[in-house]
Amino acid sequence: MAEPLLRAENVVKHYPVRNGRERGLVRAVHDVSFELGRGETLALVGESGCGKSTLARTLVCLEQPTSGRVILDDVDLAALSERGRRPRRKRIQMVFQDPFASLNPKMSIGDLIGEAYEVHGLPEGVTSARAAVGELLERVGLDPAMAGHHPRQLSGGQRQRVAIARALAPHPAVLICDEPTSALDVSVQAQIIALLRQLQADLGIAYVFISHDLAVVRQIADRVAVMYLGRIVESGTAQDVFDSPVHPYTQALLASIPTLTPGRPPRLEGEAPSPLNPPAGCHFRPRCPHARPECGASLPDLAAFAPNHSAACFFPQIRRPHIPPEGPS
Ligand code: ADP
Ligand code: MG
Repeated sequence: MAEPLLRAENVVKHYPVRNGRERGLVRAVHDVSFELGRGETLALVGESGCGKSTLARTLVCLEQPTSGRVILDDVDLAALSERGRRPRRKRIQMVFQDPFASLNPKMSIGDLIGEAYEVHGLPEGVTSARAAVGELLERVGLDPAMAGHHPRQLSGGQRQRVAIARALAPHPAVLICDEPTSALDVSVQAQIIALLRQLQADLGIAYVFISHDLAVVRQIADRVAVMYLGRIVESGTAQDVFDSPVHPYTQALLASIPTLTPGRPPRLEGEAPSPLNPPAGCHFRPRCPHARPECGASLPDLAAFAPNHSAACFFPQIRRPHIPPEGPS
């Protein structure tokens, strides 16, 4: 990878919770590290509740990590004051799942996008917010005349385009997209993915693309990190993770996607345990078809077993390449 743009280093986010007299700790994100290069797409995948959104909020400083560092352009964002962070914060923007919830319904589309300029200032060389808004609307495939419309007059896909335009306004280097297509119809999903890819080609933006939908991830990811109960359990190139997954959890996730494996019944049974009370040893052990007694003794670390391919598993399911026997030629 070229020099990384964004680096998460051992990011931990724990939430203390109380239930009557009982106190507990939700280990929403635990010891997550990754790197993101310029213009690259890293997908974070995993079932609901595995910590994807918490990690996303921590990356954009909406949450302070319990420990660990979020390094953008070689500066630790989490260690900066609110004021010191502001000029850097605009380089990393977020797009949420529900564009309706993230857009104030009382504001016009033009004002919603223009607001981003009020917060972050106009980009260099741009003289009027109005012109900048028009240009951004065009860039996300909307008619500049829509600046006068309100969110409720738009379709779900159009609203998500507005949310993307708003995130693009301060010229970010990184967009954190948290389930940006999950609320949309399949055909509209494909259009938004195509738009994100186009923007990446034109502007060189890097994405952390979060989704529980592996069929969507396959269309956009360069690299994939699979999360389970707050940790990354497998990471690698999209090709390695999709075609040669080694963690039993990744294998089960992939096997449960009907569009990727037609005709096969879902293989991921039961629900993920609570991050308030994770099982001893490997957290996936109670659901793992390959679990052995050793798996209950300690938690496996994420370790590389091939270049750029890592897994947190004591018994990774590595399929040896089939080498045909030598015969007379
Ligand atoms: P995902 O986005 O992968 O569905 P989340 O990051 O939303 O997962 O949640 C991870 C875990 O952290 C869940 O168990 C969730 O209930 C818990 N969690 C998230 N936010 C809070 C909070 N503010 N207080 C307590 N627990 C939280
Ligand atoms: Mg989420």
